[in-house]
Amino acid sequence: RSPTARLEMTGISVAFGGIKALTDVSLTVEPGQVHGLIGPNGAGKTTMFNVACGLVRNTEGRITWRGEELRRLRPAQLSKLGIARTLQGVGLFPGLTVLENVMVGAHKHARAGFFSALFAIPTSDKDDARLRERAMTSLAELDADGYAARYPGSLPYPVQKRVALARALVAEPELLLLDEPASGLSEEEMRELGDLISHLSGRMSVLLVEHHMDLVMRVCDQITVLDSGKQIAAGTPAEVQNDPAVTEAYLGDA
Ligand code: ATP
Repeated sequence: RSPTARLEMTGISVAFGGIKALTDVSLTVEPGQVHGLIGPNGAGKTTMFNVACGLVRNTEGRITWRGEELRRLRPAQLSKLGIARTLQGVGLFPGLTVLENVMVGAHKHARAGFFSALFAIPTSDKDDARLRERAMTSLAELDADGYAARYPGSLPYPVQKRVALARALVAEPELLLLDEPASGLSEEEMRELGDLISHLSGRMSVLLVEHHMDLVMRVCDQITVLDSGKQIAAGTPAEVQNDPAVTEAYLGDA
């Protein structure tokens, strides 16, 4: 793992019209670590996540990845930068099979952009075979290779979520951005997801936005806590758990 594979977000502010969604928030995802981003509803977690993947433009602050500042980051550039993400929900292409969906994620070197990735036809049968093999390996890691020929809409939601994760992992990213990966999962599935994330850490850095506190506390090395767009705490799971500001923010939300 490259020691430069560090994501630094410094002094990030975002305003939507008159609404300040984030005010001066900073966090660093260290190489090979899992960094959790938590906070009550409307705290600004998704906004921060969207800044990290170029979906929302920060009005102030800077993002540095592998020691270089990312300016005007666009989602289409992510895979070339070694970054993959899953969004809330699953976002699979309904007209493609599970295997084809994952193959889209493997088009790391295709020209940037969703449509070019989707339509970039591999130049040779050899490329095609290699891509298929990588996609199958990724599906197998998520225990979803048995669904390769199926269409996403015909599969249970938790399986669709595994396929979406396989699509993110197939590009072998150095940084994985996960927005609420546990939503809609059973306790057992959540435990498996936790095992998987722990298994991935070390191999890649992970930024995890998640509501399920048990999962966050179990898998994260560091946690940043937001409330009303501001950072109210940061540290290890134990530090954050014992921070009175965090308890107060969550009680206020209840
Ligand atoms: P949740 O846990 O409910 O998903 P969150 O912590 O992810 O919440 P955000 O979705 O980032 O919080 O929202 C932070 C604030 O910014 C909220 O007040 C929200 O209403 C506002 N906001 C988010 N996106 C937009 C937008 N596109 N336009 C205007 N306001 C927005």
